[in-house]
Amino acid sequence: MKKTNLVLLLFILCLTSLSYGQRRNINVVETQPDPIAHSPKLVVGIVVDQMRYDYLTRFWDQYGEGGFKRLVNQGFNCKNHHFNYAPTSTGPGHASVYTGTTPAVHGIIGNDWYDKEIGKDVYCAGDDSYASVGTTSDAGQMSPHRMLTTTITDELRLHTQKRGKVIGVAVKDRGAVLPAGHAANAAYWFEGGATGNWVTSSYYMDALPQWVKDFNNSDAVEAYKKPWNTLKPIETYAESGTDANAYEGKFKGENTSSFPHDLPQLWEANGQFGLLRSTPFGNSITADFALAALEGEDLGGDTITDFLAISFSSTDYVGHFFGVNSKEIEDTYIRLDQDLARVLSTLDEKVGEGEYTVFLTADHAAIDVPAYLKDSKIPAGYLDMGLIKEKFNEFLQYKYGTTDVLKDLSNYQLFLDHKILANLDIDLKEAQEDMAKELLGYEGISQVYTGHQMWENNYTKGIPYILQNGYNQKRSGDVLIVPNPGFISYSRTGSTHGSPQIYDTHVPLLLYGKGIKQGSTVNRTEIPDIAPTISALLGIAFPSGTTGRPIGEVLE
Ligand SMILES: [Zn+2]
Repeated sequence: MKKTNLVLLLFILCLTSLSYGQRRNINVVETQPDPIAHSPKLVVGIVVDQMRYDYLTRFWDQYGEGGFKRLVNQGFNCKNHHFNYAPTSTGPGHASVYTGTTPAVHGIIGNDWYDKEIGKDVYCAGDDSYASVGTTSDAGQMSPHRMLTTTITDELRLHTQKRGKVIGVAVKDRGAVLPAGHAANAAYWFEGGATGNWVTSSYYMDALPQWVKDFNNSDAVEAYKKPWNTLKPIETYAESGTDANAYEGKFKGENTSSFPHDLPQLWEANGQFGLLRSTPFGNSITADFALAALEGEDLGGDTITDFLAISFSSTDYVGHFFGVNSKEIEDTYIRLDQDLARVLSTLDEKVGEGEYTVFLTADHAAIDVPAYLKDSKIPAGYLDMGLIKEKFNEFLQYKYGTTDVLKDLSNYQLFLDHKILANLDIDLKEAQEDMAKELLGYEGISQVYTGHQMWENNYTKGIPYILQNGYNQKRSGDVLIVPNPGFISYSRTGSTHGSPQIYDTHVPLLLYGKGIKQGSTVNRTEIPDIAPTISALLGIAFPSGTTGRPIGEVLE
Protein backbone atom coordinates (compact mmCIF):
# COMPACT_ATOMS: atom_id res chain seq x y z
CA MET A 1 0.00 0.00 0.00
CA LYS A 2 1.29 3.41 -0.94
CA LYS A 3 1.93 5.89 1.80
CA THR A 4 -0.71 8.29 0.43
CA ASN A 5 -3.29 5.46 0.31
CA LEU A 6 -2.55 4.61 3.97
CA VAL A 7 -3.08 8.23 4.99
CA LEU A 8 -6.34 8.27 3.02
CA LEU A 9 -7.49 5.05 4.70
CA LEU A 10 -6.65 6.42 8.14
CA PHE A 11 -8.50 9.61 7.24
CA ILE A 12 -11.61 7.65 6.18
CA LEU A 13 -11.43 5.50 9.33
CA CYS A 14 -11.22 8.66 11.41
CA LEU A 15 -14.23 10.19 9.65
CA THR A 16 -16.26 6.98 10.04
CA SER A 17 -15.53 6.66 13.73
CA LEU A 18 -16.19 10.37 14.22
CA SER A 19 -19.58 10.21 12.54
CA TYR A 20 -20.36 6.93 14.37
CA GLY A 21 -19.48 8.67 17.61
CA GLN A 22 -21.65 11.64 16.71
CA ARG A 23 -24.57 9.34 15.95
CA ARG A 24 -24.00 7.56 19.24
CA ASN A 25 -24.02 10.91 21.01
CA ILE A 26 -27.33 11.77 19.40
CA ASN A 27 -28.66 8.37 20.44
CA VAL A 28 -27.45 8.93 24.00
CA VAL A 29 -29.23 12.29 24.09
CA GLU A 30 -32.38 10.74 22.68
CA THR A 31 -32.53 7.93 25.23
CA GLN A 32 -31.81 10.15 28.26
CA PRO A 33 -34.92 10.95 30.23
CA ASP A 34 -36.31 14.35 29.37
CA PRO A 35 -36.75 16.02 32.75
CA ILE A 36 -39.95 17.71 31.63
CA ALA A 37 -41.59 14.71 30.02
CA HIS A 38 -40.68 12.58 33.03
CA SER A 39 -42.19 14.95 35.54
CA PRO A 40 -45.38 13.67 37.12
CA LYS A 41 -48.59 14.75 35.43
CA LEU A 42 -49.88 15.89 38.79
CA VAL A 43 -48.49 16.71 42.23
CA VAL A 44 -50.96 16.33 45.08
CA GLY A 45 -49.90 18.12 48.26
CA ILE A 46 -51.88 16.99 51.29
CA VAL A 47 -51.77 18.83 54.61
CA VAL A 48 -53.60 17.20 57.52
CA ASP A 49 -54.39 19.96 60.01
CA GLN A 50 -53.02 19.18 63.52
CA MET A 51 -51.74 15.68 62.59
CA ARG A 52 -49.22 14.36 65.12
CA TYR A 53 -46.63 11.89 63.79
CA ASP A 54 -47.82 9.22 66.24
CA TYR A 55 -51.31 9.13 64.70
CA LEU A 56 -49.64 6.99 62.02
CA THR A 57 -48.39 4.46 64.55
CA ARG A 58 -51.15 4.67 67.17
CA PHE A 59 -53.97 3.94 64.74
CA TRP A 60 -51.91 1.74 62.34
CA ASP A 61 -53.93 -1.42 62.97
CA GLN A 62 -57.16 0.48 62.29
CA TYR A 63 -56.06 1.68 58.85
CA GLY A 64 -56.93 -0.10 55.60
CA GLU A 65 -54.41 -0.92 52.86
CA GLY A 66 -55.29 1.91 50.47
CA GLY A 67 -54.73 5.09 52.55
CA PHE A 68 -51.96 5.91 55.04
CA LYS A 69 -50.56 2.36 54.75
CA ARG A 70 -50.23 2.65 50.98
CA LEU A 71 -48.24 5.89 51.34
CA VAL A 72 -46.01 4.43 54.09
CA ASN A 73 -45.47 0.95 52.58
CA GLN A 74 -45.00 1.99 48.96
CA GLY A 75 -43.59 5.48 49.52
CA PHE A 76 -41.04 7.18 51.75
CA ASN A 77 -41.62 7.90 55.46
CA CYS A 78 -39.61 10.71 57.12
CA LYS A 79 -40.12 9.63 60.74
CA ASN A 80 -38.30 12.53 62.39
CA HIS A 81 -39.91 15.45 60.60
CA HIS A 82 -40.33 18.77 62.44
CA PHE A 83 -41.44 22.33 62.36
CA ASN A 84 -38.31 24.37 62.99
CA TYR A 85 -40.05 27.54 64.13
CA ALA A 86 -42.79 28.83 66.41
CA PRO A 87 -45.66 29.75 66.46
CA THR A 88 -46.79 26.33 65.28
CA SER A 89 -50.18 27.23 63.87
CA THR A 90 -52.18 26.81 60.66
CA GLY A 91 -51.30 29.98 58.69
CA PRO A 92 -47.53 29.77 59.26
CA GLY A 93 -47.68 25.98 58.77
CA HIS A 94 -49.25 26.06 55.32
CA ALA A 95 -47.04 28.96 54.24
CA SER A 96 -43.86 27.17 55.39
CA VAL A 97 -44.70 23.84 53.69
CA TYR A 98 -45.21 25.61 50.37
CA THR A 99 -42.54 28.37 50.52
CA GLY A 100 -39.72 26.17 51.82
CA THR A 101 -38.90 28.68 54.53
CA THR A 102 -40.09 29.99 57.90
CA PRO A 103 -42.04 33.02 59.21
CA ALA A 104 -38.71 34.91 59.57
CA VAL A 105 -38.66 35.04 55.77
CA HIS A 106 -42.20 34.46 54.41
CA GLY A 107 -43.75 36.79 56.98
CA ILE A 108 -46.80 34.72 58.01
CA ILE A 109 -46.02 35.00 61.74
CA GLY A 110 -49.38 33.73 63.00
CA ASN A 111 -52.98 33.09 62.01
CA ASP A 112 -53.62 36.62 63.25
CA TRP A 113 -51.10 39.12 64.48
CA TYR A 114 -50.75 42.71 65.63
CA ASP A 115 -49.61 44.77 62.65
CA LYS A 116 -47.10 47.28 64.04
CA GLU A 117 -47.41 49.66 61.08
CA ILE A 118 -51.18 50.09 61.13
CA GLY A 119 -51.67 49.40 64.86
CA LYS A 120 -54.35 46.76 64.25
CA ASP A 121 -54.80 43.00 64.31
CA VAL A 122 -54.63 41.41 60.87
CA TYR A 123 -55.63 37.97 59.58
CA CYS A 124 -53.00 36.01 57.62
CA ALA A 125 -55.18 35.48 54.52
CA GLY A 126 -57.61 38.40 54.90
CA ASP A 127 -57.75 41.04 52.15
CA ASP A 128 -60.70 43.43 51.99
CA SER A 129 -59.51 44.88 48.68
CA TYR A 130 -61.09 41.81 47.04
CA ALA A 131 -64.73 40.71 46.92
CA SER A 132 -66.31 37.38 47.80
CA VAL A 133 -67.21 35.10 44.90
CA GLY A 134 -70.00 32.56 45.42
CA THR A 135 -71.37 34.19 48.60
CA THR A 136 -72.80 37.52 49.72
CA SER A 137 -70.88 37.36 53.03
CA ASP A 138 -67.28 38.50 53.53
CA ALA A 139 -66.04 34.87 53.68
CA GLY A 140 -64.42 35.22 50.27
CA GLN A 141 -62.40 38.40 50.96
CA MET A 142 -59.04 36.65 50.95
CA SER A 143 -55.70 36.68 49.16
CA PRO A 144 -52.12 35.54 49.84
CA HIS A 145 -50.83 39.16 49.85
CA ARG A 146 -49.26 38.93 53.34
CA MET A 147 -47.05 36.00 52.26
CA LEU A 148 -43.82 37.68 51.14
CA THR A 149 -42.11 34.94 49.09
CA THR A 150 -43.10 32.54 46.30
CA THR A 151 -44.48 29.05 46.82
CA ILE A 152 -43.58 25.82 45.03
CA THR A 153 -46.94 26.25 43.28
CA ASP A 154 -45.94 29.76 42.10
CA GLU A 155 -42.67 28.39 40.73
CA LEU A 156 -44.55 25.67 38.84
CA ARG A 157 -46.80 28.33 37.28
CA LEU A 158 -43.76 30.39 36.22
CA HIS A 159 -41.82 27.36 34.95
CA THR A 160 -44.68 26.09 32.77
CA GLN A 161 -45.53 29.53 31.34
CA LYS A 162 -48.74 29.18 33.37
CA ARG A 163 -49.77 26.06 31.47
CA GLY A 164 -49.50 23.93 34.61
CA LYS A 165 -52.68 24.43 36.64
CA VAL A 166 -52.66 25.08 40.40
CA ILE A 167 -55.78 24.61 42.54
CA GLY A 168 -56.01 24.85 46.34
CA VAL A 169 -58.84 23.23 48.32
CA ALA A 170 -59.59 23.28 52.08
CA VAL A 171 -62.44 23.84 54.51
CA LYS A 172 -60.31 26.64 56.04
CA ASP A 173 -59.65 29.60 53.74
CA ARG A 174 -56.00 29.95 54.82
CA GLY A 175 -55.47 26.20 54.20
CA ALA A 176 -56.41 26.77 50.55
CA VAL A 177 -55.12 30.30 49.86
CA LEU A 178 -51.53 30.02 51.15
CA PRO A 179 -50.64 26.64 49.52
CA ALA A 180 -52.10 27.73 46.16
CA GLY A 181 -49.71 30.70 46.21
CA HIS A 182 -49.86 34.06 44.46
CA ALA A 183 -50.19 32.93 40.86
CA ALA A 184 -52.78 30.16 41.36
CA ASN A 185 -55.67 29.44 39.04
CA ALA A 186 -57.93 29.15 42.07
CA ALA A 187 -58.30 28.44 45.76
CA TYR A 188 -61.64 27.31 47.20
CA TRP A 189 -62.84 27.01 50.79
CA PHE A 190 -65.99 26.00 52.60
CA GLU A 191 -68.50 28.46 53.95
CA GLY A 192 -70.59 27.05 56.80
CA GLY A 193 -73.80 28.72 57.89
CA ALA A 194 -77.08 28.24 56.05
CA THR A 195 -75.67 27.45 52.60
CA GLY A 196 -72.64 25.15 53.01
CA ASN A 197 -71.13 26.31 49.73
CA TRP A 198 -67.60 26.29 48.37
CA VAL A 199 -66.52 29.88 47.75
CA THR A 200 -63.55 31.89 46.53
CA SER A 201 -62.19 35.44 46.16
CA SER A 202 -62.23 37.91 43.26
CA TYR A 203 -58.42 37.70 43.60
CA TYR A 204 -58.74 34.57 41.41
CA MET A 205 -61.89 35.05 39.32
CA ASP A 206 -65.11 37.01 38.92
CA ALA A 207 -67.52 34.06 38.98
CA LEU A 208 -67.39 30.43 40.07
CA PRO A 209 -66.73 27.94 37.26
CA GLN A 210 -69.65 25.74 36.24
CA TRP A 211 -68.29 22.62 37.98
CA VAL A 212 -68.19 24.49 41.32
CA LYS A 213 -71.71 25.82 40.79
CA ASP A 214 -72.86 22.29 39.96
CA PHE A 215 -71.19 20.95 43.11
CA ASN A 216 -72.81 23.65 45.25
CA ASN A 217 -76.20 22.98 43.67
CA SER A 218 -75.94 19.23 44.26
CA ASP A 219 -76.82 17.59 47.58
CA ALA A 220 -73.19 16.44 48.03
CA VAL A 221 -72.74 18.45 51.25
CA GLU A 222 -76.32 18.06 52.52
CA ALA A 223 -75.74 14.27 52.50
CA TYR A 224 -73.49 14.65 55.57
CA LYS A 225 -76.26 16.16 57.71
CA LYS A 226 -76.69 12.89 59.61
CA PRO A 227 -75.80 11.52 63.05
CA TRP A 228 -72.07 11.04 63.66
CA ASN A 229 -71.48 7.60 65.08
CA THR A 230 -68.25 5.61 65.07
CA LEU A 231 -67.45 3.95 61.74
CA LYS A 232 -66.46 0.67 63.42
CA PRO A 233 -67.89 -0.74 66.69
CA ILE A 234 -66.71 1.61 69.45
CA GLU A 235 -65.41 -1.26 71.59
CA THR A 236 -62.74 -1.86 68.91
CA TYR A 237 -61.37 1.67 69.45
CA ALA A 238 -58.71 0.57 71.92
CA GLU A 239 -56.21 3.30 70.97
CA SER A 240 -58.03 6.18 72.68
CA GLY A 241 -59.46 7.16 76.09
CA THR A 242 -62.96 6.59 77.45
CA ASP A 243 -65.81 7.97 75.33
CA ALA A 244 -67.29 10.35 77.92
CA ASN A 245 -64.75 12.20 80.07
CA ALA A 246 -64.02 15.60 81.57
CA TYR A 247 -61.32 16.44 79.00
CA GLU A 248 -63.69 16.79 76.06
CA GLY A 249 -65.90 19.64 74.89
CA LYS A 250 -69.61 19.25 74.20
CA PHE A 251 -71.56 20.67 71.27
CA LYS A 252 -74.18 23.23 72.29
CA GLY A 253 -77.25 21.27 73.39
CA GLU A 254 -75.38 18.07 74.31
CA ASN A 255 -75.44 16.67 77.85
CA THR A 256 -72.58 14.29 77.23
CA SER A 257 -69.51 14.23 74.98
CA SER A 258 -70.08 10.58 74.07
CA PHE A 259 -71.21 9.06 70.75
CA PRO A 260 -73.46 9.39 68.85
CA HIS A 261 -73.41 13.12 68.06
CA ASP A 262 -76.83 13.82 66.58
CA LEU A 263 -75.90 16.47 64.02
CA PRO A 264 -79.42 17.13 62.65
CA GLN A 265 -80.58 17.85 66.19
CA LEU A 266 -77.51 19.98 66.98
CA TRP A 267 -77.65 21.75 63.61
CA GLU A 268 -79.24 25.13 64.40
CA ALA A 269 -77.40 25.78 67.67
CA ASN A 270 -73.97 24.90 66.23
CA GLY A 271 -73.64 26.94 63.05
CA GLN A 272 -75.69 24.75 60.65
CA PHE A 273 -73.29 23.62 57.89
CA GLY A 274 -70.46 25.07 59.99
CA LEU A 275 -71.01 22.17 62.42
CA LEU A 276 -69.64 19.78 59.78
CA ARG A 277 -66.19 21.37 60.19
CA SER A 278 -65.92 19.84 63.68
CA THR A 279 -66.72 16.34 62.43
CA PRO A 280 -64.85 13.95 60.10
CA PHE A 281 -67.49 14.76 57.48
CA GLY A 282 -65.67 18.07 56.89
CA ASN A 283 -62.75 15.98 55.55
CA SER A 284 -65.05 13.84 53.40
CA ILE A 285 -66.57 16.99 51.89
CA THR A 286 -63.03 18.20 51.16
CA ALA A 287 -62.16 14.92 49.41
CA ASP A 288 -65.42 15.08 47.43
CA PHE A 289 -64.69 18.63 46.32
CA ALA A 290 -61.01 17.92 45.52
CA LEU A 291 -62.08 15.02 43.27
CA ALA A 292 -64.64 17.29 41.62
CA ALA A 293 -61.76 19.74 40.95
CA LEU A 294 -59.67 16.92 39.46
CA GLU A 295 -62.49 16.18 37.04
CA GLY A 296 -63.71 19.75 36.47
CA GLU A 297 -60.24 21.17 35.77
CA ASP A 298 -58.89 18.02 34.09
CA LEU A 299 -55.89 18.06 36.43
CA GLY A 300 -53.11 15.69 35.37
CA GLY A 301 -54.75 15.43 31.95
CA ASP A 302 -51.58 16.14 29.95
CA THR A 303 -47.79 15.97 30.36
CA ILE A 304 -47.50 19.49 31.79
CA THR A 305 -47.44 19.09 35.57
CA ASP A 306 -50.49 20.38 37.48
CA PHE A 307 -50.70 20.85 41.25
CA LEU A 308 -53.63 20.06 43.53
CA ALA A 309 -53.12 21.35 47.09
CA ILE A 310 -55.57 19.74 49.52
CA SER A 311 -55.77 20.54 53.22
CA PHE A 312 -57.93 18.48 55.57
CA SER A 313 -59.01 20.97 58.25
CA SER A 314 -61.51 18.95 60.31
CA THR A 315 -58.81 16.96 62.11
CA ASP A 316 -57.83 20.26 63.77
CA TYR A 317 -61.38 21.22 64.80
CA VAL A 318 -61.98 17.74 66.26
CA GLY A 319 -58.64 17.86 68.14
CA HIS A 320 -59.42 21.29 69.57
CA PHE A 321 -62.85 20.15 70.65
CA PHE A 322 -62.30 16.62 71.96
CA GLY A 323 -58.53 16.36 72.50
CA VAL A 324 -55.87 14.18 70.91
CA ASN A 325 -56.72 11.12 73.04
CA SER A 326 -60.47 11.07 72.27
CA LYS A 327 -62.56 8.40 70.57
CA GLU A 328 -63.63 11.22 68.24
CA ILE A 329 -60.03 11.71 67.05
CA GLU A 330 -59.59 7.97 66.50
CA ASP A 331 -62.79 7.85 64.45
CA THR A 332 -61.78 10.97 62.52
CA TYR A 333 -58.47 9.37 61.47
CA ILE A 334 -60.08 6.03 60.56
CA ARG A 335 -62.48 7.93 58.32
CA LEU A 336 -59.73 10.17 56.90
CA ASP A 337 -57.81 7.01 55.99
CA GLN A 338 -60.80 5.92 53.91
CA ASP A 339 -61.08 9.35 52.28
CA LEU A 340 -57.36 9.18 51.41
CA ALA A 341 -57.81 5.72 49.88
CA ARG A 342 -60.69 7.08 47.82
CA VAL A 343 -58.56 10.03 46.60
CA LEU A 344 -55.62 7.74 45.68
CA SER A 345 -57.74 5.18 43.81
CA THR A 346 -59.43 7.98 41.86
CA LEU A 347 -55.98 9.37 40.97
CA ASP A 348 -55.00 5.89 39.72
CA GLU A 349 -58.06 5.86 37.54
CA LYS A 350 -57.98 9.42 36.20
CA VAL A 351 -54.26 10.27 36.09
CA GLY A 352 -52.76 6.76 36.14
CA GLU A 353 -50.82 4.87 38.79
CA GLY A 354 -47.17 5.94 38.64
CA GLU A 355 -48.03 9.17 36.81
CA TYR A 356 -48.56 11.36 39.88
CA THR A 357 -46.64 12.28 43.04
CA VAL A 358 -48.14 12.81 46.50
CA PHE A 359 -46.77 14.28 49.70
CA LEU A 360 -48.62 14.26 53.00
CA THR A 361 -47.66 16.35 56.01
CA ALA A 362 -49.27 18.57 58.66
CA ASP A 363 -49.37 22.28 59.49
CA HIS A 364 -48.52 21.64 63.18
CA ALA A 365 -49.08 18.88 65.73
CA ALA A 366 -50.73 19.23 69.18
CA ILE A 367 -50.37 18.48 72.87
CA ASP A 368 -52.51 16.07 74.83
CA VAL A 369 -55.12 17.75 77.06
CA PRO A 370 -53.01 19.17 79.95
CA ALA A 371 -55.78 18.37 82.49
CA TYR A 372 -55.52 14.70 81.47
CA LEU A 373 -51.70 14.79 81.61
CA LYS A 374 -51.86 16.36 85.07
CA ASP A 375 -54.26 13.65 86.25
CA SER A 376 -51.74 11.14 84.88
CA LYS A 377 -48.99 12.75 87.05
CA ILE A 378 -47.25 14.26 84.00
CA PRO A 379 -45.99 17.86 84.25
CA ALA A 380 -48.62 20.02 82.56
CA GLY A 381 -50.96 22.89 83.23
CA TYR A 382 -52.59 26.08 82.07
CA LEU A 383 -51.23 29.56 81.58
CA ASP A 384 -53.70 32.26 82.59
CA MET A 385 -52.86 35.04 80.12
CA GLY A 386 -55.51 37.33 81.64
CA LEU A 387 -53.84 37.09 85.04
CA ILE A 388 -50.37 37.47 83.53
CA LYS A 389 -51.46 40.62 81.72
CA GLU A 390 -52.98 42.08 84.88
CA LYS A 391 -49.84 41.45 86.92
CA PHE A 392 -47.63 42.71 84.10
CA ASN A 393 -49.62 45.95 83.81
CA GLU A 394 -49.03 46.59 87.51
CA PHE A 395 -45.30 46.19 86.85
CA LEU A 396 -45.46 48.61 83.90
CA GLN A 397 -47.36 51.22 85.94
CA TYR A 398 -44.82 50.97 88.74
CA LYS A 399 -41.73 50.93 86.49
CA TYR A 400 -42.70 53.38 83.71
CA GLY A 401 -45.67 55.26 85.18
CA THR A 402 -47.89 54.07 82.32
CA THR A 403 -49.24 50.83 80.85
CA ASP A 404 -49.35 52.44 77.39
CA VAL A 405 -45.83 51.20 76.59
CA LEU A 406 -47.43 47.78 75.94
CA LYS A 407 -49.39 47.90 72.70
CA ASP A 408 -50.27 44.26 72.33
CA LEU A 409 -49.70 40.79 73.74
CA SER A 410 -50.40 38.02 71.22
CA ASN A 411 -48.86 34.74 70.00
CA TYR A 412 -46.77 34.79 73.22
CA GLN A 413 -45.10 38.05 72.16
CA LEU A 414 -45.10 41.57 73.61
CA PHE A 415 -45.38 44.48 71.18
CA LEU A 416 -44.08 47.73 72.71
CA ASP A 417 -44.73 51.34 71.80
CA HIS A 418 -41.28 52.46 70.69
CA LYS A 419 -42.30 56.13 70.48
CA ILE A 420 -43.55 56.29 74.07
CA LEU A 421 -40.36 54.57 75.25
CA ALA A 422 -38.27 57.09 73.30
CA ASN A 423 -40.26 60.01 74.78
CA LEU A 424 -39.64 58.59 78.24
CA ASP A 425 -35.95 58.41 77.29
CA ILE A 426 -35.90 54.65 77.91
CA ASP A 427 -33.52 52.51 75.91
CA LEU A 428 -35.47 49.85 73.95
CA LYS A 429 -32.97 47.08 74.63
CA GLU A 430 -33.04 47.82 78.35
CA ALA A 431 -36.86 47.90 78.40
CA GLN A 432 -37.03 44.54 76.59
CA GLU A 433 -34.62 43.01 79.11
CA ASP A 434 -36.41 44.42 82.16
CA MET A 435 -39.76 43.15 80.92
CA ALA A 436 -38.35 39.74 80.02
CA LYS A 437 -36.86 39.36 83.50
CA GLU A 438 -40.19 40.36 85.10
CA LEU A 439 -42.10 37.79 83.02
CA LEU A 440 -39.63 35.01 83.79
CA GLY A 441 -40.73 35.27 87.43
CA TYR A 442 -44.33 34.35 86.55
CA GLU A 443 -45.75 30.89 87.04
CA GLY A 444 -45.96 28.77 83.88
CA ILE A 445 -43.31 30.75 81.96
CA SER A 446 -40.07 28.81 81.48
CA GLN A 447 -38.01 30.93 79.09
CA VAL A 448 -37.97 34.49 77.74
CA TYR A 449 -36.05 36.07 74.88
CA THR A 450 -35.86 39.64 73.65
CA GLY A 451 -36.22 40.99 70.14
CA HIS A 452 -32.71 42.38 70.58
CA GLN A 453 -31.37 38.85 71.15
CA MET A 454 -33.16 37.67 68.00
CA TRP A 455 -31.40 40.45 66.06
CA GLU A 456 -27.96 39.98 67.56
CA ASN A 457 -27.50 36.21 67.67
CA ASN A 458 -27.46 33.31 65.25
CA TYR A 459 -29.01 30.42 67.16
CA THR A 460 -28.41 26.96 65.73
CA LYS A 461 -30.23 24.63 68.13
CA GLY A 462 -32.90 24.25 70.77
CA ILE A 463 -35.79 26.57 71.62
CA PRO A 464 -34.01 29.84 70.63
CA TYR A 465 -33.29 28.38 67.14
CA ILE A 466 -36.99 27.62 66.75
CA LEU A 467 -38.02 31.07 68.00
CA GLN A 468 -35.55 32.81 65.70
CA ASN A 469 -36.87 30.98 62.63
CA GLY A 470 -40.30 32.32 63.56
CA TYR A 471 -39.00 35.83 64.22
CA ASN A 472 -39.63 38.30 61.42
CA GLN A 473 -37.70 41.54 61.99
CA LYS A 474 -40.40 43.75 60.50
CA ARG A 475 -43.42 41.98 61.96
CA SER A 476 -42.55 40.20 65.21
CA GLY A 477 -42.64 41.54 68.79
CA ASP A 478 -40.20 42.85 71.40
CA VAL A 479 -40.30 40.10 74.01
CA LEU A 480 -40.92 36.38 73.39
CA ILE A 481 -42.45 34.15 76.06
CA VAL A 482 -42.05 30.36 76.18
CA PRO A 483 -44.56 28.57 78.44
CA ASN A 484 -43.42 25.60 80.55
CA PRO A 485 -43.38 22.32 78.63
CA GLY A 486 -46.91 20.88 78.92
CA PHE A 487 -48.49 24.29 79.59
CA ILE A 488 -50.99 25.96 77.29
CA SER A 489 -53.20 29.01 77.34
CA TYR A 490 -56.50 27.31 76.53
CA SER A 491 -59.78 25.91 77.88
CA ARG A 492 -59.71 22.90 80.25
CA THR A 493 -61.12 20.68 77.49
CA GLY A 494 -59.57 19.82 74.13
CA SER A 495 -56.05 20.19 72.72
CA THR A 496 -54.16 23.08 71.21
CA HIS A 497 -50.77 23.96 69.68
CA GLY A 498 -48.57 26.94 68.87
CA SER A 499 -45.51 26.36 71.07
CA PRO A 500 -41.90 25.58 70.05
CA GLN A 501 -42.08 22.31 72.06
CA ILE A 502 -41.57 18.95 70.35
CA TYR A 503 -45.19 17.80 70.80
CA ASP A 504 -46.20 20.71 68.54
CA THR A 505 -43.37 20.28 66.01
CA HIS A 506 -43.27 16.51 65.28
CA VAL A 507 -45.45 15.71 62.26
CA PRO A 508 -45.53 13.13 59.45
CA LEU A 509 -43.92 13.56 56.06
CA LEU A 510 -44.88 10.84 53.59
CA LEU A 511 -43.92 11.00 49.92
CA TYR A 512 -45.25 8.63 47.31
CA GLY A 513 -45.45 8.05 43.56
CA LYS A 514 -43.49 9.17 40.54
CA GLY A 515 -39.82 9.93 41.27
CA ILE A 516 -40.07 8.85 44.93
CA LYS A 517 -38.05 5.99 46.44
CA GLN A 518 -39.54 3.43 48.74
CA GLY A 519 -38.09 3.59 52.25
CA SER A 520 -37.85 5.55 55.47
CA THR A 521 -35.44 7.62 57.52
CA VAL A 522 -35.04 8.65 61.14
CA ASN A 523 -32.67 11.48 60.21
CA ARG A 524 -34.13 14.84 61.15
CA THR A 525 -35.90 16.60 58.30
CA GLU A 526 -37.69 19.92 58.58
CA ILE A 527 -40.83 21.45 57.12
CA PRO A 528 -38.96 23.92 54.83
CA ASP A 529 -37.26 20.90 53.15
CA ILE A 530 -40.51 19.83 51.46
CA ALA A 531 -40.77 22.58 48.83
CA PRO A 532 -37.14 22.30 47.58
CA THR A 533 -37.53 18.49 47.48
CA ILE A 534 -40.53 18.89 45.17
CA SER A 535 -38.63 21.55 43.16
CA ALA A 536 -35.75 19.10 42.69
CA LEU A 537 -38.18 16.37 41.62
CA LEU A 538 -39.83 18.63 39.04
CA GLY A 539 -36.58 20.28 37.94
CA ILE A 540 -37.98 23.74 38.59
CA ALA A 541 -36.72 26.80 40.49
CA PHE A 542 -36.83 26.80 44.28
CA PRO A 543 -39.31 29.20 45.92
CA SER A 544 -37.78 32.67 46.31
CA GLY A 545 -37.17 32.55 50.07
CA THR A 546 -36.15 28.89 50.35
CA THR A 547 -34.04 28.08 53.39
CA GLY A 548 -34.73 24.31 53.49
CA ARG A 549 -32.75 21.67 51.59
CA PRO A 550 -33.96 18.92 49.26
CA ILE A 551 -34.19 15.58 51.07
CA GLY A 552 -31.90 13.58 48.76
CA GLU A 553 -32.79 10.20 50.28
CA VAL A 554 -36.37 10.30 48.99
CA LEU A 555 -35.65 11.09 45.32
CA GLU A 556 -35.03 8.39 42.71
ZN1 LIG B 1 -55.66 24.46 65.48
